[in-house]
Amino acid sequence: MKVLLSEDRIHAGVDRLAKELNAFYGESPLTVVSIMTGSIVMLADLIRRLEMPVRISLIQASSYRGGTRSGELVVQDQMMLDIRDRDVLLLDDIFDTGKTLFEVSNRLRQMGPTSLKTAVFLNKLGQSTVPMNPDFVVFEIPNEFVVGYGLDYQDLYRNLPFVGVLEESDLARHSTN
Ligand code: 5GP
Ligand code: MG
Repeated sequence: MKVLLSEDRIHAGVDRLAKELNAFYGESPLTVVSIMTGSIVMLADLIRRLEMPVRISLIQASSYRGGTRSGELVVQDQMMLDIRDRDVLLLDDIFDTGKTLFEVSNRLRQMGPTSLKTAVFLNKLGQSTVPMNPDFVVFEIPNEFVVGYGLDYQDLYRNLPFVGVLEESDLARHSTN
């Protein structure tokens, strides 16, 4: 597998994001809403570098592209905390078309937070189809399918400590499994 982002670069990038957030929010309490499952690896690394009081809330979003209505986003929010009158940071693994972050942030805004900002680990350049950009981005990447550091292919590879681009040989291995 071709390594796009090494473990060292990732840690430096997450450090940089934490510094930006510490400077932006100061000592104000922050509620981090993390979109499962892809963002949990970054969540665990990021929150240990944040200096303000932090609450963590989980939400799951998945789009069923092969389903009845293609691209329909299914959101499960049973594990959401109350975010009314809170400063909220919405965290996702990757901003591709942007549909996920756009729809989830619209939903969170209806819950009455004081403020809502968005942060993503990766931003795929030139793919957005929505009228928003993430407020904080750790890395910009080209339009390639990547795995690792939380990102999966068929639910595998999330545990890789680096970000890699899947190659033909990796895909061939799946078809024989
Ligand atoms: P969007 O709604 O922005 O099009 O897509 C966001 C979701 O699509 C991400 O949360 C992620 O689950 C998935 N996704 C988009 N691009 C990639 C990619 O390159 N690799 C992986 N593993 N997932 C991706
Ligand atoms: Mg995802």
